[in-house]
Amino acid sequence: MGNDPKTSVLNRYQQCWDAHNVFVLGASSFPNNAGYNPTGTIGALSLWTAKAIIEQYLKNPVRW
Ligand SMILES: Cc1cc2nc3c(=O)[nH]c(=O)nc-3n(C[C@H](O)[C@H](O)[C@H](O)COP(=O)(O)OP(=O)(O)OC[C@H]3O[C@@H](n4cnc5c(N)ncnc54)[C@H](O)[C@@H]3O)c2cc1C
Repeated sequence: MGNDPKTSVLNRYQQCWDAHNVFVLGASSFPNNAGYNPTGTIGALSLWTAKAIIEQYLKNPVRW
């Protein structure tokens, strides 16, 4: 996950830069190992992604 498609696979919504209908949820979207227990962050990111899919992506399915 990152800000630049040249150096990351996913954007901040865990949406794949190269395939806008692919969202990767879970610890595999982290760019590096977390310094603290990650489960709360994984859950928060999943809710963030689900909200964006429902409120934005389904209405206009494009890459953000
Ligand atoms: C021993 C241990 C202790 C931990 N303790 C803590 C803790 O105290 N606090 C904390 O916050 N975090 C803890 N963690 C980390 C936390 O468990 C993980 O970061 C978190 O579970 C990752 O979630 P995930 O959904 O990304 O992956 P996972 O929970 O690994 O889920 C991946 C799922 O995909 C399934 N799967 C794999 N391949 C396929 C396939 N081909 N087809 C279909 N399904 C597939 C797997 O069966 C699994 O159910 C601990 C981890 C370990 C190993």
